[in-house]
Amino acid sequence: MDGLGDRPIKEFGGKTPLEYAKTPNLDKLAARGINGIMDTVAPGITPGSDTAHLSIFGLDPHKHYHGRGPIEACGAGVELRHGDIAFRANMGTVDESMTVIDRRAGRIGSTVELCKQLDGTKIDGVEIILKPSAWYRAALILRGKGISDKVTGNDSKKTGARIQEVTPLDGSKEAKKTATVLNKLTKLSYERLHDLEMNKERMENGELPANVLLFRSGGQYVPVPSLKERYGMKCACIGTGLYRGMGAFLKMDLIDVPGATGRYDSDFSAKTKKALEISDDYDFIFIHMKPTDSAAEDGNPELKVQMVERMDKAMGELLDFHGLVISTADHTTPCELKKHSYEPVPIIMAGPGILKDDVKKFGERSCSKGGIHRIRGLDLMPIIANHMGFSKLYGA
Ligand code: ZN
Repeated sequence: MDGLGDRPIKEFGGKTPLEYAKTPNLDKLAARGINGIMDTVAPGITPGSDTAHLSIFGLDPHKHYHGRGPIEACGAGVELRHGDIAFRANMGTVDESMTVIDRRAGRIGSTVELCKQLDGTKIDGVEIILKPSAWYRAALILRGKGISDKVTGNDSKKTGARIQEVTPLDGSKEAKKTATVLNKLTKLSYERLHDLEMNKERMENGELPANVLLFRSGGQYVPVPSLKERYGMKCACIGTGLYRGMGAFLKMDLIDVPGATGRYDSDFSAKTKKALEISDDYDFIFIHMKPTDSAAEDGNPELKVQMVERMDKAMGELLDFHGLVISTADHTTPCELKKHSYEPVPIIMAGPGILKDDVKKFGERSCSKGGIHRIRGLDLMPIIANHMGFSKLYGA
Protein backbone atom coordinates (compact mmCIF):
# COMPACT_ATOMS: atom_id res chain seq x y z
CA MET A 1 0.00 0.00 0.00
CA ASP A 2 2.01 2.91 -1.37
CA GLY A 3 2.79 5.82 0.97
CA LEU A 4 0.54 4.26 3.63
CA GLY A 5 2.25 5.66 6.74
CA ASP A 6 1.20 9.12 7.95
CA ARG A 7 1.31 11.56 10.85
CA PRO A 8 -1.44 12.43 13.40
CA ILE A 9 -4.37 14.31 11.82
CA LYS A 10 -6.07 16.89 14.09
CA GLU A 11 -9.52 16.29 12.56
CA PHE A 12 -9.15 12.56 13.30
CA GLY A 13 -8.49 13.21 17.02
CA GLY A 14 -4.74 12.79 16.52
CA LYS A 15 -5.05 9.44 14.71
CA THR A 16 -3.36 8.75 11.39
CA PRO A 17 -5.55 7.95 8.34
CA LEU A 18 -4.67 4.25 8.77
CA GLU A 19 -5.53 4.34 12.49
CA TYR A 20 -8.77 6.23 11.78
CA ALA A 21 -9.93 3.98 8.89
CA LYS A 22 -12.13 0.93 9.51
CA THR A 23 -9.92 -2.01 8.57
CA PRO A 24 -11.52 -5.23 9.87
CA ASN A 25 -9.60 -7.49 7.46
CA LEU A 26 -6.17 -6.02 8.03
CA ASP A 27 -6.89 -6.07 11.78
CA LYS A 28 -7.72 -9.79 11.54
CA LEU A 29 -4.41 -10.40 9.76
CA ALA A 30 -2.58 -8.34 12.40
CA ALA A 31 -4.23 -10.34 15.20
CA ARG A 32 -3.23 -13.63 13.54
CA GLY A 33 0.27 -12.51 12.65
CA ILE A 34 3.50 -11.00 13.85
CA ASN A 35 3.80 -7.23 13.44
CA GLY A 36 6.37 -4.50 13.42
CA ILE A 37 7.62 -1.34 11.81
CA MET A 38 10.12 -1.02 8.98
CA ASP A 39 12.54 1.69 7.84
CA THR A 40 12.48 0.72 4.19
CA VAL A 41 15.93 2.21 3.46
CA ALA A 42 17.30 3.20 6.90
CA PRO A 43 16.17 5.23 9.95
CA GLY A 44 16.07 8.93 9.12
CA ILE A 45 16.19 8.44 5.35
CA THR A 46 13.26 9.59 3.21
CA PRO A 47 12.96 6.92 0.52
CA GLY A 48 11.77 7.35 -3.03
CA SER A 49 9.30 4.68 -4.14
CA ASP A 50 12.03 3.18 -6.34
CA THR A 51 14.78 2.94 -3.70
CA ALA A 52 12.24 1.70 -1.12
CA HIS A 53 11.05 -1.11 -3.38
CA LEU A 54 14.61 -2.16 -4.23
CA SER A 55 15.34 -2.42 -0.49
CA ILE A 56 12.15 -4.35 0.26
CA PHE A 57 13.11 -6.81 -2.48
CA GLY A 58 16.51 -7.27 -0.84
CA LEU A 59 18.73 -5.11 -3.07
CA ASP A 60 20.76 -2.34 -1.43
CA PRO A 61 19.80 0.80 -3.36
CA HIS A 62 23.16 2.41 -2.58
CA LYS A 63 24.65 -0.27 -4.81
CA HIS A 64 21.88 -1.12 -7.27
CA TYR A 65 19.98 2.14 -7.87
CA HIS A 66 20.91 3.99 -11.06
CA GLY A 67 17.89 6.25 -11.47
CA ARG A 68 14.21 5.73 -12.19
CA GLY A 69 14.57 5.79 -15.99
CA PRO A 70 15.83 2.21 -16.44
CA ILE A 71 13.18 0.78 -14.07
CA GLU A 72 10.31 2.46 -15.94
CA ALA A 73 11.80 1.47 -19.30
CA CYS A 74 11.68 -2.19 -18.17
CA GLY A 75 7.97 -1.68 -17.45
CA ALA A 76 7.42 -0.33 -20.98
CA GLY A 77 8.60 -3.70 -22.29
CA VAL A 78 12.06 -2.67 -23.52
CA GLU A 79 14.72 -5.40 -23.41
CA LEU A 80 17.47 -3.27 -21.94
CA ARG A 81 21.16 -4.05 -22.39
CA HIS A 82 23.89 -3.38 -19.84
CA GLY A 83 25.09 0.20 -20.41
CA ASP A 84 21.91 1.54 -22.03
CA ILE A 85 20.92 4.97 -20.73
CA ALA A 86 17.16 5.21 -20.06
CA PHE A 87 14.98 8.25 -19.36
CA ARG A 88 11.37 8.83 -18.36
CA ALA A 89 9.76 10.68 -21.25
CA ASN A 90 6.56 12.62 -22.01
CA MET A 91 5.13 13.95 -25.23
CA GLY A 92 4.61 17.69 -24.70
CA THR A 93 3.63 20.85 -26.53
CA VAL A 94 5.96 23.73 -27.42
CA ASP A 95 5.49 26.85 -29.55
CA GLU A 96 7.85 27.84 -32.38
CA SER A 97 10.27 29.48 -29.89
CA MET A 98 10.47 26.11 -28.05
CA THR A 99 8.61 27.52 -25.05
CA VAL A 100 6.77 24.76 -23.19
CA ILE A 101 2.99 25.25 -23.37
CA ASP A 102 1.98 21.89 -21.80
CA ARG A 103 4.27 19.13 -20.51
CA ARG A 104 1.70 16.44 -21.39
CA ALA A 105 0.28 17.69 -24.70
CA GLY A 106 -3.21 18.02 -23.20
CA ARG A 107 -2.81 14.58 -21.59
CA ILE A 108 -2.78 12.91 -25.00
CA GLY A 109 -4.10 9.35 -24.70
CA SER A 110 -1.45 7.47 -26.67
CA THR A 111 2.10 8.04 -27.90
CA VAL A 112 2.27 4.99 -30.20
CA GLU A 113 2.20 6.96 -33.48
CA LEU A 114 4.55 9.64 -32.12
CA CYS A 115 7.18 7.21 -30.83
CA LYS A 116 7.34 5.55 -34.27
CA GLN A 117 8.62 8.81 -35.77
CA LEU A 118 11.81 8.71 -33.70
CA ASP A 119 12.28 5.06 -32.65
CA GLY A 120 15.32 3.50 -34.37
CA THR A 121 16.89 6.82 -35.39
CA LYS A 122 20.67 7.20 -35.01
CA ILE A 123 22.30 10.44 -33.88
CA ASP A 124 26.12 10.65 -33.95
CA GLY A 125 26.24 6.84 -33.96
CA VAL A 126 23.94 6.53 -30.91
CA GLU A 127 20.74 4.52 -31.37
CA ILE A 128 17.53 6.16 -30.15
CA ILE A 129 14.92 3.74 -28.83
CA LEU A 130 11.54 5.25 -28.00
CA LYS A 131 8.69 3.06 -26.75
CA PRO A 132 5.18 4.13 -25.77
CA SER A 133 4.02 3.82 -22.18
CA ALA A 134 0.65 4.79 -20.61
CA TRP A 135 -1.11 7.96 -21.86
CA TYR A 136 1.32 10.77 -22.75
CA ARG A 137 4.32 8.84 -21.42
CA ALA A 138 7.13 6.98 -23.14
CA ALA A 139 10.48 5.38 -22.38
CA LEU A 140 13.57 6.83 -24.08
CA ILE A 141 16.71 4.71 -24.33
CA LEU A 142 20.11 5.63 -25.75
CA ARG A 143 22.24 2.71 -26.89
CA GLY A 144 25.82 2.97 -28.12
CA LYS A 145 29.45 3.44 -27.20
CA GLY A 146 30.85 6.34 -25.16
CA ILE A 147 27.61 7.55 -23.57
CA SER A 148 26.88 8.50 -19.95
CA ASP A 149 23.94 9.08 -17.59
CA LYS A 150 25.70 12.11 -16.07
CA VAL A 151 23.48 14.57 -17.95
CA THR A 152 20.37 16.61 -17.17
CA GLY A 153 17.09 16.04 -18.97
CA ASN A 154 15.45 18.67 -21.22
CA ASP A 155 12.33 18.74 -19.01
CA SER A 156 12.58 21.40 -16.30
CA LYS A 157 8.99 20.51 -15.25
CA LYS A 158 8.04 24.16 -15.87
CA THR A 159 5.59 25.55 -18.38
CA GLY A 160 5.90 29.02 -19.89
CA ALA A 161 9.70 28.71 -20.04
CA ARG A 162 11.94 27.66 -22.92
CA ILE A 163 12.83 24.03 -23.07
CA GLN A 164 15.88 23.23 -20.95
CA GLU A 165 19.15 22.61 -22.73
CA VAL A 166 20.68 19.29 -21.76
CA THR A 167 24.00 19.85 -19.96
CA PRO A 168 26.70 17.40 -18.81
CA LEU A 169 26.89 16.84 -15.04
CA ASP A 170 30.57 15.99 -15.02
CA GLY A 171 33.63 16.83 -17.13
CA SER A 172 33.78 13.52 -19.02
CA LYS A 173 33.74 13.38 -22.82
CA GLU A 174 30.98 10.73 -22.56
CA ALA A 175 28.66 13.16 -20.73
CA LYS A 176 29.47 15.89 -23.23
CA LYS A 177 28.71 13.61 -26.17
CA THR A 178 25.44 12.41 -24.58
CA ALA A 179 24.31 16.00 -23.98
CA THR A 180 25.02 16.84 -27.63
CA VAL A 181 23.04 13.81 -28.85
CA LEU A 182 20.10 14.68 -26.59
CA ASN A 183 20.01 18.34 -27.65
CA LYS A 184 19.92 17.20 -31.29
CA LEU A 185 17.12 14.78 -30.36
CA THR A 186 15.04 17.59 -28.83
CA LYS A 187 15.25 19.56 -32.11
CA LEU A 188 14.64 16.48 -34.22
CA SER A 189 11.54 15.59 -32.21
CA TYR A 190 9.99 18.99 -32.99
CA GLU A 191 10.89 18.71 -36.70
CA ARG A 192 9.40 15.24 -37.08
CA LEU A 193 6.34 15.61 -34.85
CA HIS A 194 5.06 19.14 -35.39
CA ASP A 195 3.73 18.65 -38.94
CA LEU A 196 2.36 15.15 -38.45
CA GLU A 197 -1.15 14.63 -39.81
CA MET A 198 -2.41 13.72 -36.32
CA ASN A 199 -1.11 16.99 -34.90
CA LYS A 200 -2.76 18.99 -37.70
CA GLU A 201 -6.01 17.24 -36.82
CA ARG A 202 -5.49 17.92 -33.12
CA MET A 203 -5.00 21.63 -33.80
CA GLU A 204 -8.09 21.75 -36.05
CA ASN A 205 -10.05 20.24 -33.15
CA GLY A 206 -8.69 22.88 -30.78
CA GLU A 207 -6.37 20.38 -29.09
CA LEU A 208 -2.70 20.90 -28.31
CA PRO A 209 -0.26 19.26 -30.74
CA ALA A 210 2.13 16.66 -29.27
CA ASN A 211 5.19 18.15 -30.91
CA VAL A 212 8.15 17.65 -28.60
CA LEU A 213 9.83 14.88 -26.65
CA LEU A 214 10.49 15.80 -23.00
CA PHE A 215 12.73 13.58 -20.89
CA ARG A 216 14.22 13.39 -17.39
CA SER A 217 15.57 11.03 -14.66
CA GLY A 218 18.19 9.39 -16.85
CA GLY A 219 20.05 6.39 -15.54
CA GLN A 220 22.29 3.62 -16.75
CA TYR A 221 20.85 0.13 -16.88
CA VAL A 222 22.88 -2.31 -14.81
CA PRO A 223 21.13 -5.68 -14.43
CA VAL A 224 20.34 -6.91 -10.90
CA PRO A 225 19.98 -10.47 -9.60
CA SER A 226 16.32 -11.51 -9.53
CA LEU A 227 14.55 -13.20 -6.60
CA LYS A 228 14.67 -16.36 -8.68
CA GLU A 229 18.46 -16.10 -8.90
CA ARG A 230 18.92 -15.18 -5.24
CA TYR A 231 16.37 -17.46 -3.57
CA GLY A 232 14.96 -19.74 -6.24
CA MET A 233 11.52 -18.14 -5.94
CA LYS A 234 9.23 -17.91 -8.95
CA CYS A 235 7.69 -14.42 -8.79
CA ALA A 236 4.81 -12.45 -10.26
CA CYS A 237 4.03 -8.73 -10.17
CA ILE A 238 0.57 -7.16 -10.14
CA GLY A 239 1.17 -3.43 -10.45
CA THR A 240 1.11 -0.47 -12.84
CA GLY A 241 3.57 2.28 -13.81
CA LEU A 242 6.85 2.32 -11.88
CA TYR A 243 5.77 -0.78 -9.93
CA ARG A 244 5.20 -2.84 -13.05
CA GLY A 245 8.64 -1.59 -14.10
CA MET A 246 10.05 -2.75 -10.77
CA GLY A 247 8.58 -6.21 -11.40
CA ALA A 248 10.12 -6.31 -14.88
CA PHE A 249 13.47 -4.98 -13.57
CA LEU A 250 13.50 -7.90 -11.09
CA LYS A 251 12.44 -10.34 -13.85
CA MET A 252 9.07 -11.17 -12.26
CA ASP A 253 6.24 -12.30 -14.54
CA LEU A 254 4.00 -9.28 -15.22
CA ILE A 255 0.31 -10.00 -14.63
CA ASP A 256 -2.23 -7.57 -16.10
CA VAL A 257 -5.52 -7.22 -14.27
CA PRO A 258 -8.54 -5.57 -15.95
CA GLY A 259 -9.72 -2.61 -13.85
CA ALA A 260 -6.30 -2.02 -12.24
CA THR A 261 -5.54 1.57 -13.24
CA GLY A 262 -3.11 2.84 -10.59
CA ARG A 263 -5.57 5.70 -10.01
CA TYR A 264 -8.35 6.35 -7.46
CA ASP A 265 -10.78 4.22 -9.48
CA SER A 266 -8.48 1.18 -9.46
CA ASP A 267 -10.13 -2.17 -8.68
CA PHE A 268 -8.04 -3.41 -5.73
CA SER A 269 -10.17 -6.52 -5.18
CA ALA A 270 -9.52 -7.59 -8.78
CA LYS A 271 -5.81 -7.59 -7.88
CA THR A 272 -6.11 -9.72 -4.75
CA LYS A 273 -8.55 -12.07 -6.53
CA LYS A 274 -6.09 -12.45 -9.39
CA ALA A 275 -3.25 -13.15 -6.94
CA LEU A 276 -5.33 -15.92 -5.34
CA GLU A 277 -6.17 -17.35 -8.75
CA ILE A 278 -2.48 -17.66 -9.76
CA SER A 279 -1.12 -18.51 -6.30
CA ASP A 280 -0.49 -22.18 -7.15
CA ASP A 281 1.80 -21.16 -10.02
CA TYR A 282 4.07 -18.86 -8.02
CA ASP A 283 6.16 -18.77 -4.83
CA PHE A 284 5.91 -15.01 -4.38
CA ILE A 285 3.38 -12.50 -5.68
CA PHE A 286 3.94 -8.74 -5.36
CA ILE A 287 0.67 -6.77 -5.33
CA HIS A 288 1.03 -2.99 -5.45
CA MET A 289 -1.75 -0.48 -4.67
CA LYS A 290 -0.98 3.17 -5.39
CA PRO A 291 -3.74 5.63 -4.39
CA THR A 292 -3.00 5.82 -0.62
CA ASP A 293 0.10 7.72 -1.71
CA SER A 294 -1.73 9.82 -4.30
CA ALA A 295 -4.36 10.92 -1.73
CA ALA A 296 -1.61 11.98 0.70
CA GLU A 297 0.23 13.86 -2.06
CA ASP A 298 -3.07 15.61 -2.79
CA GLY A 299 -3.18 16.56 0.93
CA ASN A 300 -6.53 14.78 1.37
CA PRO A 301 -6.70 12.65 4.57
CA GLU A 302 -10.41 11.77 4.05
CA LEU A 303 -9.61 10.35 0.62
CA LYS A 304 -6.65 8.45 2.06
CA VAL A 305 -9.01 6.89 4.65
CA GLN A 306 -11.40 5.90 1.82
CA MET A 307 -8.54 4.30 -0.13
CA VAL A 308 -7.32 2.40 2.96
CA GLU A 309 -10.85 1.08 3.56
CA ARG A 310 -11.19 -0.07 -0.07
CA MET A 311 -7.78 -1.75 0.11
CA ASP A 312 -8.82 -3.41 3.37
CA LYS A 313 -11.86 -4.84 1.60
CA ALA A 314 -9.57 -6.23 -1.11
CA MET A 315 -7.33 -7.80 1.55
CA GLY A 316 -10.42 -9.68 2.76
CA GLU A 317 -9.95 -11.92 -0.30
CA LEU A 318 -6.70 -13.19 1.23
CA LEU A 319 -8.03 -14.07 4.71
CA ASP A 320 -8.46 -17.75 3.82
CA PHE A 321 -5.23 -18.01 1.81
CA HIS A 322 -3.14 -21.00 2.93
CA GLY A 323 0.25 -19.27 2.63
CA LEU A 324 2.05 -16.28 4.04
CA VAL A 325 0.45 -12.82 3.67
CA ILE A 326 2.62 -9.74 4.20
CA SER A 327 1.06 -6.30 4.28
CA THR A 328 3.23 -3.21 4.33
CA ALA A 329 4.19 0.02 2.53
CA ASP A 330 7.17 1.51 0.75
CA HIS A 331 7.31 4.76 2.74
CA THR A 332 5.33 7.28 4.78
CA THR A 333 3.55 10.10 2.93
CA PRO A 334 2.02 12.52 5.47
CA CYS A 335 -1.04 14.37 4.14
CA GLU A 336 0.24 17.54 5.88
CA LEU A 337 3.51 17.43 3.90
CA LYS A 338 2.06 16.18 0.57
CA LYS A 339 5.34 14.34 0.00
CA HIS A 340 7.34 11.37 1.30
CA SER A 341 8.86 11.46 4.77
CA TYR A 342 11.26 9.37 6.84
CA GLU A 343 9.01 7.62 9.41
CA PRO A 344 8.96 3.80 9.40
CA VAL A 345 5.95 1.94 7.97
CA PRO A 346 3.85 -0.76 9.66
CA ILE A 347 4.18 -4.37 8.62
CA ILE A 348 2.19 -7.59 9.21
CA MET A 349 3.31 -11.16 8.47
CA ALA A 350 0.53 -13.71 8.90
CA GLY A 351 0.39 -17.36 7.94
CA PRO A 352 1.37 -20.88 8.91
CA GLY A 353 4.15 -21.24 11.46
CA ILE A 354 4.16 -17.57 12.41
CA LEU A 355 4.73 -16.80 16.12
CA LYS A 356 1.83 -14.43 16.59
CA ASP A 357 2.12 -11.49 18.95
CA ASP A 358 -0.41 -9.44 20.95
CA VAL A 359 -1.07 -6.77 18.28
CA LYS A 360 -4.75 -6.65 17.28
CA LYS A 361 -4.82 -3.71 14.87
CA PHE A 362 -2.92 -2.67 11.76
CA GLY A 363 -1.51 0.80 12.38
CA GLU A 364 1.71 2.77 12.67
CA ARG A 365 1.65 2.78 16.49
CA SER A 366 -0.04 -0.56 17.18
CA CYS A 367 2.40 -2.48 14.95
CA SER A 368 5.38 -0.85 16.69
CA LYS A 369 4.51 -2.99 19.74
CA GLY A 370 4.74 -6.27 17.81
CA GLY A 371 7.24 -9.08 17.65
CA ILE A 372 9.03 -8.00 14.47
CA HIS A 373 9.98 -4.79 16.33
CA ARG A 374 11.84 -2.44 13.97
CA ILE A 375 13.61 -3.77 10.90
CA ARG A 376 15.08 -2.33 7.70
CA GLY A 377 13.69 -2.97 4.27
CA LEU A 378 16.76 -5.05 3.40
CA ASP A 379 15.87 -7.46 6.26
CA LEU A 380 12.45 -8.32 4.85
CA MET A 381 13.22 -10.64 1.92
CA PRO A 382 15.65 -12.84 3.91
CA ILE A 383 12.93 -13.26 6.58
CA ILE A 384 10.24 -14.13 4.03
CA ALA A 385 12.49 -16.46 2.02
CA ASN A 386 13.66 -18.25 5.14
CA HIS A 387 10.18 -18.68 6.59
CA MET A 388 9.09 -20.18 3.27
CA GLY A 389 12.00 -22.63 3.28
CA PHE A 390 14.06 -21.04 0.48
CA SER A 391 17.18 -20.30 2.55
CA LYS A 392 20.15 -22.48 3.45
CA LEU A 393 21.75 -22.96 6.86
CA TYR A 394 24.43 -20.38 7.58
CA GLY A 395 27.33 -22.29 9.11
CA ALA A 396 27.08 -25.95 10.07
ZN1 ZN B 1 5.75 4.96 -3.04
